[in-house]
Amino acid sequence: MSEAETDEGSAEGTAGGRPGGAPGAPARRPRVAAAVTAAVLFAGVAAVLALTTPWSPLPGHVPGGRVRPDPALDFTPAEIARSRAFDSAVNPPAYSGLAVGLVLVLVLGFTPLGARFIGWVTARTRRRWLRIITATLALTTLLRIAGLPFDVWGESVLRRYGLSTQSWPAWLVDQAKSLAVTWVIYTIALLLLYALTRRFPRYWWTGAAAGGFVLVVFVSFVYPLAVEPVFNKFHSLPAGQLRSDLLAMARRDGVPVKDVLVADASRRTTSLNAYVSGFGSTRRIVLYDTLLKSPPAQVESIVGHELGHAERDDVLWGTLVGALGVAGALCLLYPLMTSPRLLRRAGLDPGAPGPGGAGPDARRGGGAADPRSIALLLALVTAGTTLAAPVQNLVSRRIEARADVHALDLTRDPSTFVSMQHALSVRNVSDLDPDAAEYLLWLTHPSGPDRIAMARDWARMHRVRVPPPQH
Ligand SMILES: [Zn+2]
Repeated sequence: MSEAETDEGSAEGTAGGRPGGAPGAPARRPRVAAAVTAAVLFAGVAAVLALTTPWSPLPGHVPGGRVRPDPALDFTPAEIARSRAFDSAVNPPAYSGLAVGLVLVLVLGFTPLGARFIGWVTARTRRRWLRIITATLALTTLLRIAGLPFDVWGESVLRRYGLSTQSWPAWLVDQAKSLAVTWVIYTIALLLLYALTRRFPRYWWTGAAAGGFVLVVFVSFVYPLAVEPVFNKFHSLPAGQLRSDLLAMARRDGVPVKDVLVADASRRTTSLNAYVSGFGSTRRIVLYDTLLKSPPAQVESIVGHELGHAERDDVLWGTLVGALGVAGALCLLYPLMTSPRLLRRAGLDPGAPGPGGAGPDARRGGGAADPRSIALLLALVTAGTTLAAPVQNLVSRRIEARADVHALDLTRDPSTFVSMQHALSVRNVSDLDPDAAEYLLWLTHPSGPDRIAMARDWARMHRVRVPPPQH
C-alpha cells in the first residue's frame, strides 16, 4: 500500500467527476449503478429471508389451540419479581449506553466534528495508510471510552445479581481485548476500503461489495479459532457417560460431531449457555462449563437444540445472508459517501484538496477517499447496523424456535425441555415478560415463557404428557 505509486498510478477515470462537470462533482452513472446494485442485493436478502425463515417453527394443528406464554404458570411470584427488578436495573444502562453511543457516532459523522477530530489526531502523520490506522484506532477508542461508564453500570448490576464472577481488573482486561479485536477487524476493513476508493474512485463500491462479502465469510469462518480463544479456554468434554450420550445423540441425529467443547465461562459468569459457531471445518458445539452441573437430561436437551443449528447450518446460512446484506450496504455507501451535501455536512469539501497533504485524495474519488471521512463512514455503518438489528432479531428468534423444535423432536422429552428452560431463565434472571422495544432491540431468542409454551404445544401435538407447571 505504497503512497507514491497509488498517487500517480493510472487509476481509471477522472477523479469522480464526469468530463466537463464541475470539479469534484460526483459522476452520476456510477452513483446510479451503485444504488441500483444495492437495491437488488437488499431485495435479494429480503426475498431469501422471507422464503427461508421458519416463520412458523412448529407447524401444524395443536389440539385444543396453542398455549399462551404465561410466566405465572411456571415461575414463583418471587422469581417473577426478581426478573422484573433485574430488568429495570439493567435497562437504564443498556438504553442510555445505546443512545449515547448512537448520538456520539452520528454527531461525529454528520457534523464536521469527526473530520476535525481525525484531522487533529493525524496532524503529524504523513503516510496515508498510517493516517487510516490512526483514525480508526482513535475513533473506535473514543466511542468505547464514551460507552465505558454505561458498561461499568451494567456490569455492576450483573454483580449485584450474582451473575458476574469477574474481578474489575479482569473485566477491564476483557474490555481491552474486545477493543483490540474491533481494532484489528476495522483496521483491515478500512485499509482495504480506502485503498479501493483511491485506486478506483468511480467503481470502488464493486470491489468493496465483493471484498466485504468475502471478509464477512472469512471472519465468521475463523472466528472460533481466532477470536473465541482470546476470551476463553476450551477443552473437550471429558470422556464419560455424558460425552458418549451426547455423541450418540448426534449420530442418531445424523449430524457429524467429532467433539463437544467446554468453555471456561465460569471465570466470567454464572449464567448457563451453549452455542454453535463456525462452519465447515471450524464448526463446533460449545457448552459453558457452568452447564456441567445441570442434570444430564437437561444438557442433552440443550445439545439437541445446538444440533438443530448444526443440522440446518444456521451459522453458515446467517453468515451468507449477512454477507449479502453487507455487500448491499457497501454499494449504498458509494452514493452516500460521494454525496456533496453529506460530505459538506461532514466537514469534507468534495471539491477542494484536504489538509495534511490530502490533495490527491480530493482529486481521486473526492472527499470519500480522504481518511477524515472515516467518521462519516462509521456513522453510516452504525446507522445501518442499528436499523438492521430488529430484522436480525426477528429472524433469529424464529431460527432459535426451530432449533427448540429440533431438540423436542430428537429427545421427545418436553418435560425435561421445560425444566431446562425454567432453570435457564431462573439462573440467568431472564426477562420473563419482554416488552415490544426489548423484543425489537435485544431479544435474539424467544423468552423463556415463549419457549416453554411451545414445548407444551409440541407435547399436545405429539400426544406426549404435557409438562406440568414448574412450581
Ligand atoms: Zn440457539
